[in-house]
Amino acid sequence: MSGLTRAEIVVDLDAIRHNVRLLRELVGVPMITVVKADAYGHGLLPVARAAREAGAEWLAVATLDEVRSLRADGDEGRLLTWLTVPDEQYDDAIRADVDLTAYTVAELDEIAAAAAYVGAPARVQLKVDTGLHRGGASRADWRPFLERARAGEVAGTWRITGIWSHLACADEPDHPANDAQQAAFDDAVAMGHDVGLRPELRHLANSAAAILRPQARYDAVRVGLATYGLDPAPAVDHGTDLRPAMTVRAELALVKQLEAGDAVSYGHTWTAPARTTVGLVPAGYAEGVPVAGSNRLEVAVGGVRRPVRGRVCMDQVLVDLGGDTPPEGTEVVLFGPPGDGRATAQDWAQACGTINYEIVTRIGGRMSRRYTGVRP
Ligand SMILES: *Cc1c(COP(=O)(O)O)cnc(C)c1O
Repeated sequence: MSGLTRAEIVVDLDAIRHNVRLLRELVGVPMITVVKADAYGHGLLPVARAAREAGAEWLAVATLDEVRSLRADGDEGRLLTWLTVPDEQYDDAIRADVDLTAYTVAELDEIAAAAAYVGAPARVQLKVDTGLHRGGASRADWRPFLERARAGEVAGTWRITGIWSHLACADEPDHPANDAQQAAFDDAVAMGHDVGLRPELRHLANSAAAILRPQARYDAVRVGLATYGLDPAPAVDHGTDLRPAMTVRAELALVKQLEAGDAVSYGHTWTAPARTTVGLVPAGYAEGVPVAGSNRLEVAVGGVRRPVRGRVCMDQVLVDLGGDTPPEGTEVVLFGPPGDGRATAQDWAQACGTINYEIVTRIGGRMSRRYTGVRP
């Protein structure tokens, strides 16, 4: 194909493998690489394969649809899922040897019915709420929940393979919620032991805790964001050598001259104070460029950092070229790994008042995805 690449996402699988290996070595316990939400916008299947190649013992996703995609791709490794809804169809997941997560006795009952129907024991992990107050069994319900889990295990309905929880403030290592949640988690584990459960895995840590809180690593860690080379705790200086895997690039579609006083884009929210040039970048909020980044984002045009001017449109944004006239087709890197004038996903998050997770996960729209470092 020749001519212009409108806009594309380039994902470096070598960076993914580097990050998985580095983190696995750092934590010293089995790695559960989290590939939910299309691998945080990086592409579920290529990332899953790369993570396995780099030694991830487990993968984790949120939904059963994501489970189906992974199994259909031939992934046969240990796989954890955690976000089911009432009346979920568990049959295929049980047949596919997936580790399901239960939050409630009602959910355990549904899994029991599915296991009976399939005629094979399920694998179930138990999520306890230790203070995030999102999913998971509330403290008051721990005992009946754990007892029901144990009863099903004794009956041969399932094996309880894990007990786990999730931290609210892991990116703030000094936040008192971390100690409180970990103490609560230890209580839940002890209660599970009390009722006779001996799960193979206890896990609590996400990326930030895996890196910053060694005592929270237990038997495995669930690492999402850091896999993609983004910093889960940008405010903390921890020096982990993560490599961002995603580069979002486009080619300059048009360059034009503006006179002092010319205003650009919808609402005329920016007016040129002096004669300048602007370039048109063919990607907009349909591709996940946040409107909140209007007049705030920066991108690299031909290796030079340039500010976005005016409101981000659905299909395009304008950048101030400061009087320069780079040829149309000049590479524009919206964000990527640091270097060569590039903004990072973290820079974009800061500019937009959001988190790096949201920037990469929402990038996409009409952009194609291309992979480097693919293994034959
Ligand atoms: C998304 C998610 C993770 C991964 O979190 P990161 O901060 O991206 O490492 C881990 N556990 C649960 C329950 C999650 O929902």
